[in-house]
This record gives sequence, structure tokens and C-alpha cells, in this order.
Amino acid sequence: MDLSEYSFVIVGSGLLGSVVAERITSQLGQKILLIEKRNHVGGNCFSEVDKETNIEFHKYGTHIFHTDNERVWKYINQFTNFNSYRHQVLSSYQNKIYQLPINLETINSFYNITLKPFEVDDFLARLKTPLEKAPSNFEEKAISIIGKDLYEAFIKSYTEKQWQVDPKQLPASIFNRLPFRKNYHESYYFDKWQGVPTDGYATMFNKLLSDKKITVLLNTDFFSVRNQLKKNAIIIYSGPIDKFFDYRFGKLSWRTLSFHQETISVEDFQGNAVINYPEKEIPYIRIHEPKHLHPERNYTTEKTIIFKEYSMKDDGKNPFYPILSDDNQQKYDLYKKEADQLKNVFIAGRLGDYKYYDMHQTIEKALDIFETGIAPQIGTIS
Ligand SMILES: Cc1cc2nc3c(=O)[nH]c(=O)nc-3n(C[C@H](O)[C@H](O)[C@H](O)COP(=O)(O)OP(=O)(O)OC[C@H]3O[C@@H](n4cnc5c(N)ncnc54)[C@H](O)[C@@H]3O)c2cc1C
Repeated sequence: MDLSEYSFVIVGSGLLGSVVAERITSQLGQKILLIEKRNHVGGNCFSEVDKETNIEFHKYGTHIFHTDNERVWKYINQFTNFNSYRHQVLSSYQNKIYQLPINLETINSFYNITLKPFEVDDFLARLKTPLEKAPSNFEEKAISIIGKDLYEAFIKSYTEKQWQVDPKQLPASIFNRLPFRKNYHESYYFDKWQGVPTDGYATMFNKLLSDKKITVLLNTDFFSVRNQLKKNAIIIYSGPIDKFFDYRFGKLSWRTLSFHQETISVEDFQGNAVINYPEKEIPYIRIHEPKHLHPERNYTTEKTIIFKEYSMKDDGKNPFYPILSDDNQQKYDLYKKEADQLKNVFIAGRLGDYKYYDMHQTIEKALDIFETGIAPQIGTIS
């Protein structure tokens, strides 16, 4: 196959690469070479059907689509419908199940009381040791808001297991991102549009990439074919930014996850898609039961599948979450400066931008790259 005939090369078939590929073919009528090193398209959103039970699962962790962004919602609905699934997370602590984010039900159940919303602040204030100065780290901030008991039960060890870092070393500002509710609202997201693709993420990606002008090369690492590409091809690269520059400023560090599947001979194992396990003694951080993601499907099997999720430092093979430290940020800034100098190369996505993006944010980023970066150049492409 002659790779040098393509003026557009996309690296990575996750949402970033697939949306840009769809836009270029449908709006500009151009041919695309899409290079993917895994044996499937879809990046980390990929879903697959378990052969024994027929249950669809998300191979790289439970993915719930949620957005308030109409432009993104209208765009993605061209390729899939979404079911009515609404995400709710539970947490197991000392063999009891609680609601997450921490809400009035969590507090009442934890302390075995029946507070009303307007009584929560006074109740928590009585449990707190007054701080002499403003909280200077994640732990101090958490305790200043929810008190020591709830923090230690649901957040401290969970954070340590997930990030392998002492929460005292995390900035106080991170706690502001964790929702805390003084009412009984149990929905994890409040976005206007939510759900899981009715026919699964794999089908959605196949539709996104269905145009015959898109050639997908699976099991292929971009770096092994880079020298066969057209010299002035426009490259949209959604792999790790440090690798693109051959780690010239040092390696960025990442956390990764591994998922251990079990098939269990009961119809329903835990009654919910995701349950957190915050206790130190339990090695995994969550159990996923994907059957619950499709309430509209009639899974008739008497069996279910579950996935225990473990968090660990990445060895460079499977980066999931960027580790936000000053050192990593400084390295990323150097790479970004290099990337901004390049003509004809767009580096983006969760690996390219070294940033956690939800799916709707990734789609918006891809639409922006197409509209403001690629489409205006079309007259100049040979
Ligand atoms: C555990 C987890 C759970 C999540 N849950 C949610 C959720 O519930 N809701 C939500 O909105 N978002 C969720 N997200 C975020 C979502 O996964 C991302 O927004 C999305 O996957 C980003 O797409 P991307 O294209 O940037 O990256 P990716 O999906 O990672 O795609 C990048 C692709 O590039 C390929 N690649 C990399 N390097 C090369 C190379 N050298 N050559 C060829 N191919 C290469 C990779 O194999 C990969 O397929 C979650 C993320 C994680 C990690």
C-alpha cells in the first residue's frame, strides 16, 4: 500500500481522530489515512460484546456520555442514539453501601441520623476542628468542608489508591471539583443530555468512520511508518505529545488502569453499574457491572460479568490519566511550544494535550481543530 498518496494522515482512532476524519471526508471530500496501533478503532471509548453472556462492556472503563453542549450533542447524534441510562455511583464502606457524591443520604446513613438540608452545615460544623488559617492542601480543604469522618471513610484512601500520593500533597483546589450535596440528589451528572450509545460505542465509531475515503490501518504504530508518508501531508496526531518529539524534554508521567474480568453465575451481582471501594485493605478501586448500562436491553442470561479496576503508575505502554505536577507541567509547556511551531501538524486529544477530557470536550476540540485549523488551509493543499 502506498502511504505517500495521502495528504491527510490521522494518528489515533479515538474520538479526536475519528471526528476529525469524519469532518475532513464529509465536508472537504478528501481521502484520509487513519493509523491506529491497537487492533480496533475507538480509542479508550471502545466497547465490545462478551461472547459468553452477550453483555456489552467498555474495555477501558465505564464511559457515560454527558453534555450541555448543543453543538456537540447535535453532531454526535448523527452517528448514534443514546439510551436513557442515568449514572449513579455508590460506595462500599465497612460492608455498607452509600451514595456518592456525598449527599444527605450518605450523611444520614453514615451517622444514622435524619438531618434536613438546612441542618447539615451546623451538624458538620460541630464535628470540625476550627482551622487557624485557610486550608493549604486537599486534605485540609476536604476536612474543612465535610469533616474528618466522611473524608477518611470515602475520600482519603480512595485518593491514595487511585493516585498513590498523600492527599496532603495535592492542591486544595482539587477538592472543589468533587461535588458535595446537602440534598438527596443522587444523579452523578446534571447535564441536559446523558446516556450510553444504544448500539454501543463500537457501532458509533464504525459509523463515524464509514466513508470509503477513510483508510484505517490497524495494528500500526505511526512511528514505524512515518518515513513512508507524503512529505507535506497534514498530520493530526492524537498520541502522547512527548513521544512525538522523541522525549526530547523528558518523559511525561501517567497513571494507568487495569481491569480484571470475572463471569459470575447470578443475574445481577451488585445492582449498579459502578461501586467504589475506598478502603485501604481492598486492592481495587471500583467494580463495574456493565449489564446496568443498558436498561433498555433484555439480557436474558442468568450470568453477569464484572470488572475489578486497579490503578497503577504507567510504564509508558498504556497512558490513561496525566499526573498533574509542576515538573510534568513544565515539560508539557516545552513540548507545546515546539508543537506550536510546526506547520501542517496538529497535536491534540487527551494524550496530545496531556489533559483529562470528557468525551464531549474531546468532540468539541476535534470540531474546533477542523473548523479553525484544517478547513481554512484546504486551498493550500496539494
Ligand atoms: C477510565 C476512563 C473513564 C472515562 N470515562 C468517561 C466518561 O464516563 N465520560 C466521558 O465523557 N469521558 C470519559 N473518559 C474520557 C474519554 O475516554 C476521552 O475523552 C476520550 O477517549 C479521548 O479521546 P482521544 O481520541 O483524545 O484519546 P483516545 O481515546 O485515547 O485515542 C487515542 C488513540 O491513539 C492511538 N495511538 C496513540 N499513539 C499512537 C501511535 N504512535 N500510532 C498509532 N496510534 C496511536 C491509541 O491507541 C488510541 O486509540 C474516560 C477516560 C478514562 C481513562
